[in-house]
Amino acid sequence: MSGPNTDYDPVEVTPLKADQVEAMREAALAAIAAAPDLDALKQVRIDHAGDRSPIALANREIGALPPQARKDAGQRIGQARGAINQALAARQVVLEAEHEERMLAEETVDVSLPTTRRRPGGRHPITLQSELIADLFVAMGYEVAEGPVVEAEWLNFDALNLGPDHPARTMQDTFWTEPADHHVVLRTQTSPVQARTMLTRKPPIYVVCPGRVFRTDEYDATHSPMFHQVEGLVVDEGITMAHLKGTLDHFASQLFGDGITTRFRPSYFPFTEPSAEVDVKCFVCRGVESDACRTCRGEGWIEWGGCGVVNPRVLVACGVDPEVYSGFAFGMGIDRSFMFRHNLEDLRPLFEGDVRFSSAFGTEI
Ligand SMILES: [Zn+2]
Repeated sequence: MSGPNTDYDPVEVTPLKADQVEAMREAALAAIAAAPDLDALKQVRIDHAGDRSPIALANREIGALPPQARKDAGQRIGQARGAINQALAARQVVLEAEHEERMLAEETVDVSLPTTRRRPGGRHPITLQSELIADLFVAMGYEVAEGPVVEAEWLNFDALNLGPDHPARTMQDTFWTEPADHHVVLRTQTSPVQARTMLTRKPPIYVVCPGRVFRTDEYDATHSPMFHQVEGLVVDEGITMAHLKGTLDHFASQLFGDGITTRFRPSYFPFTEPSAEVDVKCFVCRGVESDACRTCRGEGWIEWGGCGVVNPRVLVACGVDPEVYSGFAFGMGIDRSFMFRHNLEDLRPLFEGDVRFSSAFGTEI
């Protein structure tokens, strides 16, 4: 019969020796401290605290010890594992903070960098307004006519009954091209397009001509040396001022809203007789004449343009028989219509090409 195994010294079970446990602890703490990032720390956790780590394997050996030896070994292993887990948790907190900081730094958006995104273009509000007006007249059976902006003096003035002594022909108003004896100007009105139309075709004529015109005005909030006009011309049998009034009332209601009509004030233009200034009823206060209305300044009406029955002398100059035909003509500023339509105090943004301005009035690609 064998006696109790008194020679067995549990301290001699290799993995449970104090120096071995200490070595495992040191190795684990060193690896934790050296882990550069969260992925590395994850691997360190598996290697030094996982189910197959040296310390876990040593822990299993405790069961093989006689009861009196288990306590010491258990305490030793428990303390070592506690220290390792604590170090892992602390390192985890540090690395997570570093990770977050790095992400914030790397993902910072530099709003001053140029973008590769392409902005959709903004069509110019005057182009849109011109097309809208042209469309209104095309719907009434008119044609859209165009002409050159560099024009013969005769077509710009003489054909339209502006004689050589007319003030508009002086150097203050008109841009003349060099040499002066070629009698070529930058057109001061779109009316030469009407003369060209009458000279090249027979009535009935129903045309509308939107376009650029030039005058030697100072460039300020309400003047520009280049601006836009739209003119209309009708030449047919039996045309009267009543047709003109009806046409402009329709034009005004289409452009400014239902119920917006026009009124005529007697005036003088060389190429029409009789002639009238056209006012349009204020589309904001609708003609109530309230002092509070900024758009019409309490007038109830807004100056819009000029019109009249085509002067027979103009018809003759353009080869149309005034005994058979009569006609009417009208003209208004497109920029001006646009300004009061949108309550714009200064016309300069219309000519300065800033797409941020244009975009506000409708962007198309
Ligand atoms: Zn008003």
